[in-house]
Amino acid sequence: MSGPAQNPDNRLTVNLGAIAHNLEALRALLPRGARVAGVVKADAYGHGLVPVASTLKQAGAEALAVAALVEGEHLRKAGVEGPVYLLLGLRPDQARRAAARDLIPVCADMDIFRALDAAGRERGRPVPCQLKVDTGMGRLGVAVDQAVEMLEQLIRLPGLELTGLVSHLATAGDPASDHARRQTAAFAGLLSQARQRGLALADSSLAGSGGVLVPLRQMPSPPCLVRLGVALYGGLPDPASAGRADLQGAMSFTSRLLAVRRAPAGTLVSYGCTWRAKRDTWLGVVPAGYSDGYPRSASNRARMLVNGRLAPLRGRVCMNLMVIDLGGLDPLPRPGDSVTLLGRQGEAEISANQLAAWAGTIPYEITCSLGAANQRRYI
Ligand SMILES: *Cc1c(COP(=O)(O)O)cnc(C)c1O
Repeated sequence: MSGPAQNPDNRLTVNLGAIAHNLEALRALLPRGARVAGVVKADAYGHGLVPVASTLKQAGAEALAVAALVEGEHLRKAGVEGPVYLLLGLRPDQARRAAARDLIPVCADMDIFRALDAAGRERGRPVPCQLKVDTGMGRLGVAVDQAVEMLEQLIRLPGLELTGLVSHLATAGDPASDHARRQTAAFAGLLSQARQRGLALADSSLAGSGGVLVPLRQMPSPPCLVRLGVALYGGLPDPASAGRADLQGAMSFTSRLLAVRRAPAGTLVSYGCTWRAKRDTWLGVVPAGYSDGYPRSASNRARMLVNGRLAPLRGRVCMNLMVIDLGGLDPLPRPGDSVTLLGRQGEAEISANQLAAWAGTIPYEITCSLGAANQRRYI
């Protein structure tokens, strides 16, 4: 975040202890011998790259994963050690930079592997890298039927150390998914073909949070790695994976009532007059909006916590303001009272999953947006 600070009444807090707790809780679901790569791309899903990476390392995560080279370099400059995967791979002209920082690119293109091979021979030590295979995500990766041929080319390059195959599930988290089962079978098949050729590929990975919360029957046998993202932050990859692990939300966002106003029946609220008071009530004005990363699509649907009670959002979310209904709250809240938009207030909680459901999106987007728009405080 640059520019003048946000409204000082708004506070984004990241609970690093919750992230360490979630790592423990998720480990309990892993097959024996499986190791964890904590996914910290996109500024750790809005929670802060370096603080989260350091927390995960301290809590015992065996590896980390980011999207782009610059994020990996940032981790190294901050003194974070150990394996760091680059999930987006590289351009060939970035191979030397990745090698210099001992980052592990996940690639699918021969041009890039050749550049990495050259960098490895130049430095006199092979560069670790992984081969991305598209088993059904339709995004990145070499096709399944070309993967073995590619592996055979790669093992002839002395500047490379191929440590694993990577693939990504498109429908993980959905226990009923046949697609995930097919992807898993294709991945397991490739791994066994590679192992027949004497390649251990011990750091291969298929599952993200969804593949762990909904265990895959043919999960590649350990030793293997899982790439955990959203669940480390307390989010669910799919509502159907609720209740599988005791996860704690790591992000909270609070504000303070800017005004409390009497609203007679018939009062119209916010742009487009999309809400009209059916009876006399009290409205609270919250000084936060979509410029603070709160989803506008939650207009007329979300709720917030005031004095431990739920207050519904009325009308459209504005750039810096929202209006909530305080009708029925006794005692009536006052200007300056704390409002929780995300997180716990006493016994009650609004989770990122819940806010995402109200907004018609996923918890990933909620925490990325709030994290990008606000200064973070850590506890
Ligand atoms: C983001 C990402 C993950 C993490 O997924 P979650 O659902 O957040 O656990 C794993 N693998 C790849 C390739 C990713 O892009």
